[in-house]
Amino acid sequence: MEFKNLYPVQMHCPNCGKQLTGYKSKDGALRIECPRCMVKIFSKRITRKEINIKVTSAS
Ligand SMILES: [Zn+2]
Repeated sequence: MEFKNLYPVQMHCPNCGKQLTGYKSKDGALRIECPRCMVKIFSKRITRKEINIKVTSAS
């Protein structure tokens, strides 16, 4: 994993609202795991105005 290609992104967990810091990779994909409610958040920009956010529940 090359950290030079990553930059931190802050967002709130869409499930519990906890503030999370994730790392966005060069391809624009963002992956965050919430330590409070254990959901996995995957975010990817599709177009300039459209961002796809996928939330996967652990349970
Ligand atoms: Zn959460």
